[in-house]
Amino acid sequence: MRLILLGPPGAGKGTQSARLMQRFDIPQLSTGDMLRAAVKAQTPMGLQAQAIMSDGKLVSDEIVVGLIADRVEQPDCAKGFILDGFPRTVAQATALNTILHKKHMDIDAVIELRVDETALLARMEKRVQQTIAAGHPVRSDDNAEAFHSRMEAYREMTAPVSAFYADAGQLHVVDGMANIEEVSASIDAFLKEKIAA
Ligand code: ADP
Repeated sequence: MRLILLGPPGAGKGTQSARLMQRFDIPQLSTGDMLRAAVKAQTPMGLQAQAIMSDGKLVSDEIVVGLIADRVEQPDCAKGFILDGFPRTVAQATALNTILHKKHMDIDAVIELRVDETALLARMEKRVQQTIAAGHPVRSDDNAEAFHSRMEAYREMTAPVSAFYADAGQLHVVDGMANIEEVSASIDAFLKEKIAA
């Protein structure tokens, strides 16, 4: 099962990825997590990405496409994977198609979690409070200013990715405003149909 999860920051992609990962026994490939690991390790790529991420802007297509191209080659991706936070631009989506076609692979489903933008800032603020309460460090881009940039990047660069997959007849939209159980049930129902087809 090769899945793509689309949706703005705070839409619930991480929550759903974690669940689907267990259900299908496939890894979640999050370019955000990969980049944060590179920042933490202070690799040359991490040093390049650090300021861009803190500003809530997008890292270059070249960097993230390179990360994904290497990652899907790993043995744990043999049964499939869940892409979370990638592709974020139409150029990344096109590059992904090229990578997969070379391997005679295809994406099985693209699921977009559609949410009301006004709810997202509140979700992010809640996540920050919970992170602080748990004694964990807060992400450098989890603040109102960077969040605003992340939303802007989403609207300008990532919303067209939904249209790209809709045109290809691959997009399935789920109401991400429902509670977690309902969102999960709706995704599961769709995937069940997909598997049966
Ligand atoms: P969010 O929680 O906002 O969905 P992520 O954890 O997916 O964020 O990504 C955090 C940051 O990492 C992004 O704001 C961006 O700077 C960078 N990033 C992650 N994935 C990509 C990508 N596919 N293309 C460009 N930049 C990316």
